[in-house]
Amino acid sequence: MNKGKKLYEGKAKIIYETSEKGLVVQHFKDDATAFNNLKKANVEGKGVLNNRISEHILSNISQCGIKTHLVKRLNMREQLIKHAEIFPLEFIVRNIATGSLSKRLGIADGTILEEPLFEYCLKDDDLGDPLIAKEHIYAFGWAKEDEIKEIDKMTFRINDILQGMFRGVGIKLVDFKLEYGKVWNKDKQEIVLADEISPDTCRLWDIKSERKLDKDRFRKDLGNIVQAYQEVARRLGIMPEETNISEVKEFAKTTSIKFKKK
Ligand code: 5GP
Repeated sequence: MNKGKKLYEGKAKIIYETSEKGLVVQHFKDDATAFNNLKKANVEGKGVLNNRISEHILSNISQCGIKTHLVKRLNMREQLIKHAEIFPLEFIVRNIATGSLSKRLGIADGTILEEPLFEYCLKDDDLGDPLIAKEHIYAFGWAKEDEIKEIDKMTFRINDILQGMFRGVGIKLVDFKLEYGKVWNKDKQEIVLADEISPDTCRLWDIKSERKLDKDRFRKDLGNIVQAYQEVARRLGIMPEETNISEVKEFAKTTSIKFKKK
């Protein structure tokens, strides 16, 4: 399998063609952006961590019977994925009110929602990824009704899986964003979970201290971005203990997790 030319470059990832039909390479960059590209920085090591964390999460989701685009991780920054035709939509799930929901509707930050709340946004940077209704999706043909029904079912299950996975390592899954696409399987198209699931696309709070372990550290200038992502990787059991251990230890002091003495 050879990596070919660049097909697409996004804010945090690059997609390259490959010599194999239907497969592409997803490369994770260290670039961090927020507020529709108004805030930008290079966060050294972020791409490597997101590659590992997303591989771990998508593999777990796949083991639960949900189809994803992931074929395998290739190296520190790259994954082999199925080339999906991406729906131009962002699927947001909220378990706790914060972020744009609190701002938009005045719901107190941290309010636990009785049921997971699903929101749909149009993936369009020029428009600032606006919130839309399902009716807009059908009216403008961004997805069909039966596709959204299937995606909602997949999203609901993914939320359950992720909540359990993170709760088990002392993290609250506050909210997250998913993307889906369609791939050909023999002669029929099927819906797969696409993109990534990482601290870039989720809000993750330490259960006890509510310390933020996600991209809000960048958005809100809280510092220690990489250390927070490393902490997520370490808790998920996918990060070697020796990496930047002193910085991770410093950061861990502010969370509920205790380091075991060797
Ligand atoms: P909010 O709408 O409150 O800004 O974001 C809700 C959740 O979706 C957060 O976990 C946030 O990280 C994620 N999210 C929403 N839009 C985007 C996006 O364009 N890119 C990324 N990486 N995450 C997003």
